[in-house]
Amino acid sequence: MAYLESRNPDGTTTQLPLTAQGDRRSYLSVDKDGRAEITSTGGGDALGVITPTKGRWILASNKAGAVRVNGQVVAPLKVLTHNDQIGLGGLTLRFCAEVIEALADDSPLLRRRLRCPYTHELFKPGDRVVRCPDCNTAHSVLAWFEHKACGNPHCSYQAQMVGDGGEGGAADGA
Ligand SMILES: [Zn+2]
Repeated sequence: MAYLESRNPDGTTTQLPLTAQGDRRSYLSVDKDGRAEITSTGGGDALGVITPTKGRWILASNKAGAVRVNGQVVAPLKVLTHNDQIGLGGLTLRFCAEVIEALADDSPLLRRRLRCPYTHELFKPGDRVVRCPDCNTAHSVLAWFEHKACGNPHCSYQAQMVGDGGEGGAADGA
C-alpha cells in the first residue's frame, strides 16, 4: 500500500496511506495544527488530490502553486514515482510506492500459492515482500533489492528503494 510520509512541525513523522480501491481519491490538505492530512471527500481546503489510475498515482494541484513535486510546481498533473518529495504548503511529504509488508497468515498471496519471480520460492507467513507499484507482483525483499527491477517479464518497472532493508517495515507492525 503506497503512502505519504509527512514530517510534522514537532519533528515526528506520520504515514498517511493512499486509497487504492477503485477510483477513490485522496485529498491532501493541512490541518489547523499544521499537519498534513488525507481525506476521502474533498473539502474546500484541499490543496491537491491523488488518484490511482492504471497502477500509477496521479497528483493534481487543486490550487494554483500550492503543490510542488521535487521543488517543481505541479501544473496541472504529475505522475508520482517512489521517493518523490511533495511540497504541500510549508510541509514536505515523501511519496512511498515501494513498501515492505510482512505477509499475514491469511494473505491472498499464500492462498494462491504464489512464488517470488526471482527465487521461485513459495511465500510463507511472515515473509517480507515488496509489491511492484506498476503490476503488483510480489517479490521477496532481498530479491527486490538485489535485482532492482520487477521480476514480471511483462513489466519494466525499475526499483528506486534504497536497499537498507528497514524502510517502511515499521508500518506493518508485525
Ligand atoms: Zn511490475
